[in-house]
Amino acid sequence: MKFNEMKYKRINLEEIVPQIEGLLEELSQQKSAEDFYRVFLKEQEIEKKIDTMASLASIRHTINTKDEFYEKENDFWDETSPQLQAYMTRLARIVLDFPQRSELEKLIPETYFLSAEFALKTFDEKIIPLLQQENKLASEYGKLKAGAQIEFDGKTYNLSSISPLVQSKDRDVRRRAYDARIGFYQKNEAEFDRIYDELVKVRTQIARELGYQTYTELAYYRMQRFDYNQEMVANYRRQVLEDIVPLTREIYKRQAERLHLDKLRYYDLGFEFESGNATPKGTSDDLVKAAVNMYHQMSPQTGEFIYVMYENELWDLLSKDGKEMGGYCTSIPEYGVPFIFSNFNGTSGDVDVLTHEAGHAFQFYSSRHIPVLSGQWPTMESAEIDSMSMEFFAYPWMKDFFKEDTQKYYYSHFTGTLTFLPYGVLVDHFQHEVYNHPEMSIEERKATWRKLEKMYCPDKDYEGCELLEKGCWWYQQGHIFESPFYYIDYTLAQVCALQFWVKAHRNQPNYFNDYMHLVSLGGTKTFTKLFREAKLRVPFEDGCLKQIAADAKEYIESFDNNSF
Ligand SMILES: [Zn+2]
Repeated sequence: MKFNEMKYKRINLEEIVPQIEGLLEELSQQKSAEDFYRVFLKEQEIEKKIDTMASLASIRHTINTKDEFYEKENDFWDETSPQLQAYMTRLARIVLDFPQRSELEKLIPETYFLSAEFALKTFDEKIIPLLQQENKLASEYGKLKAGAQIEFDGKTYNLSSISPLVQSKDRDVRRRAYDARIGFYQKNEAEFDRIYDELVKVRTQIARELGYQTYTELAYYRMQRFDYNQEMVANYRRQVLEDIVPLTREIYKRQAERLHLDKLRYYDLGFEFESGNATPKGTSDDLVKAAVNMYHQMSPQTGEFIYVMYENELWDLLSKDGKEMGGYCTSIPEYGVPFIFSNFNGTSGDVDVLTHEAGHAFQFYSSRHIPVLSGQWPTMESAEIDSMSMEFFAYPWMKDFFKEDTQKYYYSHFTGTLTFLPYGVLVDHFQHEVYNHPEMSIEERKATWRKLEKMYCPDKDYEGCELLEKGCWWYQQGHIFESPFYYIDYTLAQVCALQFWVKAHRNQPNYFNDYMHLVSLGGTKTFTKLFREAKLRVPFEDGCLKQIAADAKEYIESFDNNSF
């Protein structure tokens, strides 16, 4: 069915709540695992209906925020969802308390149990006021940034509109625009410091109220890290430092040579080619056509998937008046289909939508048959494996999107995945230090950032920029304020995707079948188990990054640096 024909109707709470309550009651009376599961699935069907309507309302609201009908519906869902969440929590308790748990575990994915247990470990009614305080502080950070007014050469910009100038070909413009942007952070240094300091304190208090020593411990539960811990992550960061950082130094060296600069300064790092970045060629329709063609050639399964997406118009790709910013992929469970939302803007980001977001969509499409809803989507770090790997699988078709810029695209995309790894683990390491030592002063935190930054990103030369030299780069990284500890996830997934790249690059057999197997599992297995199912090495294990680094170095050196 086409997206526009999918009928939206607000759910009737007076009808649905008694139904759920009835099923919860029925569940608590079941004796055998089979009977329990049968009733459980009935409840899942109701959840499916609810999720479908919530999803339709949300998608249509983001496509046109000026549509009054869906604005009201969106408000309805904002109010109703927490209410319904309370029933899901009750359901989780009933599942956990079922006496024949081991029998039930054969029917319901283990991740459902783990996630229910973790939800209980991270919540208690007594922390509600602290959670509200945490949310308020995180919103203050967002508001502070959203209100930025940056004066530059007689015009006023915000943090997003100044971006093209920060990447200007003219080095002087680039430097001044960068400094103007940093000027906003410098002007608000005390405010960023206050917000973060209060966030660290309130999060530490939440953790202590729940009986944990540090917020870090609680964060691992909050992030649903089912099967890895702080020590394993530390071992992974060490490998990034040893195997990847030397490679990024070479990447920056090549960049300086290419740009004919003695030394890359902080405002040069994001500027890769004198001739400009790789851009997709043709209209948005051309790009969509190229994507449809690519997925048909890639495999029968991706072909079927893109056929369903295209025929049913399960995406809204172009920017338009009233549309929300950004991009996402979501699902419409009753129809068993995903939906992709984006704002094409003529940059290589448009192609990322058709590879990365389509990777998420393909994963959902491949696991849509899983009857337990929470098993249809993986946890955060696992979900990114599916999308980031698709970016690499799409490599052989990139010439259809980038034409004469194809080599430049490969180089930029590939080296970008590598330079991201040390930065990503820096963000993670910093947060471990901060939350494991909540007594640190504001100034000590900044010094810690700068110390770690020199270790992981030694090419960041801030001479002449007082704020960055002091250790305040992280003010710009929203996750640190808004989603603590959510960051290393992207790098872990990237390491998985890079392993798929190695296999594809070396033409190894069966890797695509392994990927197909991975996406079909959705979120029914934990992170490290998914890795093993996909026949990949877990990033925490010694030696995992060595092979990637060796192959990556060879690949990077195969590009003629003077040809861009
Ligand atoms: Zn993603």
